[in-house]
Parts: sequence; structure tokens; C-alpha cells
Amino acid sequence: MKTLSASLCLCGSILFLSLVAAAQIPAPKDTLGFTPGDDRKLASWAQVVDYFQKLDKASDRMVFEEIGKTTMGAPFVYATISSPENLKNLDKYKSINADLADPRRFNKIRSAPHVTEKRLLRDGKTIVLITCGIHSTEVGSTLSSMLIAHRLTSSNDPEIQNILKNTIILLVPSLNPDGVDIVKNWYDKTLGTPYEGTEPPELYHKYVGHDNNRDWYAFTQVETQLTVDKIHNVWHPQIVHDIHQQGQNGARLFLPPYMAPVEPNVPKQIVEGYTQLGNYMAADLRKRGLEGITTNTTYDAWTPARAYSHYHGGVRILSETASAKLATPITVKFENLRSDGVGGLNAKVESPNFGPVWRGGEWRLRNITDYMTTAAFGLLNHAADNRERWLSRFYDVGKEAVRPRKDGELWGFDITATGLELRELLQRAGVELNSGAANEHGWRKAYVSIAQPYGVFAKSLLEKQSYPDLIDGKGTPIAPYDVTAHTFPLLAGWKVEELFSAPKVFPYTSPNYGCLPKTISQIGVYRSWVPSMDEGWTRWLLERKYQCPTVNYDSVSNRDILDEALKTTVKTIIFPDQSPNQILNGYAKGSMPDEYTGGVGKEGVENLRKFVEAGGTLVFLNRASNFAIEQFNLPVKDVTRGLNRKDFFIPGSILRTELDLTHPIAKGMPKESIAWFENSPAFDVGQAVSLPGQTNSLSYKVIARYPSDPKQILLSGWALGAEKIAGKAALIEFTIGKGKIILFGFRPQYRGQSLATFPLLFNAISN
Ligand SMILES: [Zn+2]
Repeated sequence: MKTLSASLCLCGSILFLSLVAAAQIPAPKDTLGFTPGDDRKLASWAQVVDYFQKLDKASDRMVFEEIGKTTMGAPFVYATISSPENLKNLDKYKSINADLADPRRFNKIRSAPHVTEKRLLRDGKTIVLITCGIHSTEVGSTLSSMLIAHRLTSSNDPEIQNILKNTIILLVPSLNPDGVDIVKNWYDKTLGTPYEGTEPPELYHKYVGHDNNRDWYAFTQVETQLTVDKIHNVWHPQIVHDIHQQGQNGARLFLPPYMAPVEPNVPKQIVEGYTQLGNYMAADLRKRGLEGITTNTTYDAWTPARAYSHYHGGVRILSETASAKLATPITVKFENLRSDGVGGLNAKVESPNFGPVWRGGEWRLRNITDYMTTAAFGLLNHAADNRERWLSRFYDVGKEAVRPRKDGELWGFDITATGLELRELLQRAGVELNSGAANEHGWRKAYVSIAQPYGVFAKSLLEKQSYPDLIDGKGTPIAPYDVTAHTFPLLAGWKVEELFSAPKVFPYTSPNYGCLPKTISQIGVYRSWVPSMDEGWTRWLLERKYQCPTVNYDSVSNRDILDEALKTTVKTIIFPDQSPNQILNGYAKGSMPDEYTGGVGKEGVENLRKFVEAGGTLVFLNRASNFAIEQFNLPVKDVTRGLNRKDFFIPGSILRTELDLTHPIAKGMPKESIAWFENSPAFDVGQAVSLPGQTNSLSYKVIARYPSDPKQILLSGWALGAEKIAGKAALIEFTIGKGKIILFGFRPQYRGQSLATFPLLFNAISN
């Protein structure tokens, strides 16, 4: 709105200032009744939206809009903040940025590109996207978004004027609005009880919990889709500031540069950009007296799963501030600060990329919001002061991306995939492709050239990852921050070939494999009070709209497993990936309110055994398989058990499997497939004999194995000691009495990405 501010032109200069009467701009406290950062106070999502709407009304420096609905139907919103003059010309700035992102746009149509180039760099603004709250228990950032917005809309400081003039800020108060309320409701419920500050006994995103920040290339969730479609791809930000929190006992704040490894497709200008900006912010915060700041530790830059912008011309500035207990203050003793050196950090000792050391003491929500807001304004100052540098670096990335490839250089890829996946994945990320006609199963052939603005995104996903052998001084492998592979064609069962020249023709693609429409009913999915992301992903898969089988399922709780009626309501129960101890025992008494403690328990195990003997099927995924082996005395050994990390380490990689196609669970599958291996068991059934206490009528069948040649096992990522699992089973079915127990030694529905192995899970539950 325009009523409360005056735009002044100063003395013939072209500098426009928008001065506001600060008192007329509502402070967060006027709406919330408290100042964000106050102890023990969280805002509901409705309150956050209400505050931004009030700011929007009162200020001519902000445009606030709803761009869709979340998974659970809440408004998904963002604010555009800049000077009133810039806000009047948003289409112009969008267009400038689109030209810089894709120089083909003006090189083709204008005779003097260098003149255009100069004009674009002179006139453009640094586009800064600030994203908060993707992880809802990291409560500080959504609260800080209101403090940041208030200062930007109410302050007349020259610093703020400079930011408003030179940047366009896209502020997302939460990337996961549903979780804001899930966490606030739980926090308020437990406030003043012994459980104040505990984490909620459910995922803070309906399906994926913390994995919502692993979705930036598969785009499975609506929040990811909205952010990519309606913010990233519209604006192409040069800088993305993604505000997070980490554990209580490490550094007070992490900023880039990232530790090794950096994924090889990340352009060098991006690495240079996040290194300069992160170091600038760290120095700025230190100058302001903030302690415990680290760079270049713990967080790597290996994957597009967390860094869409790295493959779209923008730097990702992750910040990770130390946590309290949600909004409840804590005291951290100096001696309890982390000194294990994991991720290259010792929080007790000053080093070139850490310090000055924080000496311990009280740590409250106010400290968190102070670190977050100070860091954000440091970032915005840099973005404003170096506007032209940010734009020219962004343009350099664009120019290199669209450069025609020379003879002998990689031209691109030949892909055979389903049209749906090509659209949902590559085209959603802005990748251009030429595709042929679809066959009767919807499979298409497509060609992707890498000489295009987001060619590195395509290349990163289409090629195999070779994760470096990172070993510490004692010979122990250094764990990746997350996982080591993201080769989508392997996960999805696509065929891909590298091309070294442009293809001429589009041959018809013969059918690969399809599936028949059918309905699978009476399925239970075990749900513990200890949230399991794999459980959420399982529900997501079973509810997915556009797949062959329609699945009717119910969640099954610990109490349901004790109930005799279980046998009549479900025929099959899936136990998603979760540690055996969490399944058996759940939360210990005293750690959570009573109704959320406990697991399946011994009595539940007995009921499950009877369920199987009477004809039911139990399907265990990944670590849950060890629960079955232990509790049902299955005559099978997990050969990875007890192995030293020096001898065996496969931290999130794609492995090759060989299938027995005569078995119904492998129906419709190719002879060779994959396994997503992460904290996974591998089964030795060589010596399968009846064990004491085990039912007599037991037989088994191996459906998938790892190759017996260790060199054939790894397809993408990192595998040390693969020979330990050579020839071992990855998927087994036991027949016990009239029923079955099926063990998956991997995650067949990994993060909604391993489409190649979805049919194995569907076959297992429709057996
Ligand atoms: Zn986080």
C-alpha cells in the first residue's frame, strides 16, 4: 500500500528514498502479543500469516501473496520486499534476470549483445531468496522472518535504504507451514510439564518430516513444487539464504564455505560466491561480537537434494544456528561442548575456521533469533553493496551453461523414461528436452543437451556419482553429511546413454515394462510414536495418485498390534525402516507423556507371530528386518552386523541386485535391478537351519541378491568393503505356517525416488 510513506528524490540524484513513519508499521508484538524470540513463545501459522498481511497493508515496501496450499491445506505464502520504486517494476526485474540466466534470450534477437549485457548488469537487482522453517522444530527462523520483515519495512537507516534499493528480497516465512502448527501445538501442550521442549511424537511434515529438505531434485512434495515453480523458476535468485538450526553442543553458527566434497557439477562461480559471502558474513558477525562461528565444517555440497540453486545459477547460503529446546532456554556447560572432531569441528578450541570460542552458559531462543537476523542482514548488505558483482557472476554461469559444446566434449544424454517422470523431474527444473512419441506404457525417448541454462542439473542427476574415498588420519572413512548417490536413471529404472554429438533421429521406444491396474486392500503400515521418515514415505507411496495399483491401507499402532481384531482388518503389515529397539520399546517411560511411550513389546511380538502363522504377511524394510530376525528367530544372519567402519562402509549408495524372476515378488521386474543401501542389512541364509524356539514349518526363498563379484556391486555413490556383501541376499521371503515374513535389506521406496523398486514392494503386499 502507498498511503503511509513518502518517496523523495534527493537533490538531483537518481537515488530514491522511501521514508516511513516507523510507528505506523506494526511490530510483530502488536499482532502476536510477544516479540519473536521471547522465551517459551511460538507463533501459530495463522498468526504468522496475519502479521505479514498487516505489514503488507501498512507498507509500500512489501507485496505478500499466497501461491498455493500445503499438503494439509494451509496457505503457502511469500513476501517480496524492496523499495517502492522497485516493487512497481517487478516484471522488468524478472525479465532482466531471466535474460542474465539464459543469455540465448538476447544474443539471438539483438544485434549488439554487449550493449544489452551492460544495460542488464547496470539495471538489474540482486535477487535474494530467504527461506525459513523447512525443519519445523528449528523454530527460530520462522520467528526471525517477522523480525527481518519488520526491520526492512520500518527502518529508515541508510543501510536498509541501500538494501531496498539494490536488492529484491523474496522472503518465505516457512517452507513447511503445516509443521509450524504441529510443533506449536505439541509445545503448548507440554509447556510447564516435565516434557516441555521435547520433540513431537509425529513427523512435522505429513509424509516426509526432515526429508523435506532432500526433495530439491525429485520434487515429490507440494511445498517443494510450489517453491520451485512459483519462486525459483520465476525469479532465478542469485542468493538463497536457507536458515536452519543444528544441535545444542556444537558451534553456535555454521556458515559456508561447505566442507568437502563439492559435487563436481556445481559451477566454480557458485563455489566462489558462497565462499566469499559465507566468509564475509562470518567476519561481520565476529566483528559484532558474536562467538562460536564456524565455516567449512560438517555440511558438504554433494547433492542437488538440498541445493536446487547450485544448479540454477544461485549460491545457497545455509546457516545452522545452535538450538535450545524448542522455545525453552537451556544451559550448555563448556565441558559438554563437542570436541570429537566429527565434521572437522572442535567447539572448544579456536582454529582458522572456528572462533572465537563460545564459553558456554545459557542459550535461549533470543540468542538464536539474534544470530539469525544479524546473519541475514550481513548477507543482505553484501548482496546490496556488490550488486553488479553478483549479477555478473550469475551471468557468467549462464554464459558457460549455454556455450555450444566442442567436438569431443559431452553433448548430452539419450534417455528412455516415462513422459510423466521427464515432466515432473527434468522439465520442472527448467531442463529443455526433445522427446519422441510415447509407447503404450507411457515410455518415451528424449534427448537432453547439456548446453542449456540448467544443463548441469540434468548432468548431475543423469550421471553416476563417484564419491571420493575420504579417509581420516586413523584410516576411518569420513561419513558424508547425508548420502552419496543421486543417479536418477538408476533409481527410476530409466535407460541413459551419454552422447558426444547431437542426435539426428527419434527412434520409437519399445515397451520396457508396465503394470496392470489393480487394487490392493487390507494393508497396515506400522506407525511408532518415535517418528520414522520412512514410515511417512511409505504412506506417501501408497497414496500416490498416478500409479498402477490403488492401495487401501490403515496405520497400525502399538495398541492395534495387541488387539485380536487385527487379523480381521488387515492381511499384510509393513514395518518401515526403523531401528529394532524403537519398534520393540519405543520411547522409554519418563521421557515422554505416558501415552506416547512403549513399543510393540513382547506381547505384540507374540501376536504378530500368531498373525503370520494364521496366514498374515509381515513386510520389513531395511533396519526393521533386524527386528524380525531377532524377534522371530529367523535362520538368517545380517553379515554387516558388528563390522568396523574401516572394513565396511556404504553410506547411502545405489547397489546392483540380481533377481529371481520366477518368484511372484519379482514379477514384471528386469533381471537386474537396484537396492538403495543405507544402514542396511545383507542376509546370509547359507546355513539356514531351524533354530530353537522356531516354528518347524519354515522355508525361505531368496528373491534378490548382490552380485558375487564385488566389483559389480556399486552402481553409484561410495562402497568400502563391498566384498562383505557379495552374493548375499537383499530380499527374502520366509513361509511360516500359513503366512509369510518378507525381509527387504534396503529401502524399496527410498524418499519417493527409487521408482525402479516400487514394484517389488507392491508385489510383496499383493502376494
Ligand atoms: Zn534443518
